[in-house]
Amino acid sequence: MADQPDLPFGTALPPITPRPVVRGYARRPGTGPEGQTCGTCANVVCKSYSRNYYKCGLVKTTGGPATDIRLSSPACELWKKKDR
Ligand code: SF4
Repeated sequence: MADQPDLPFGTALPPITPRPVVRGYARRPGTGPEGQTCGTCANVVCKSYSRNYYKCGLVKTTGGPATDIRLSSPACELWKKKDR
């Protein structure tokens, strides 16, 4: 276990900066609601060029394939129901 500083009781902890576990995804795929996918999530963004590229709108993305996501990926814990 990593060393942790001894902080006096009541000391505010620094904010946790969430980092994507799998690049391109807001959180680890499969940690979201059972049966849901990125394709059913309100956060998915479609970039249309000569073909469609899908990105997670909660992640700072690049123009390259490294941050592409698959619509069939199991939802992460930040999955959000689409309004329709
Ligand atoms: S389930 Fe939604 S929030 Fe999570 S990685 Fe996929 S598109 Fe992003």
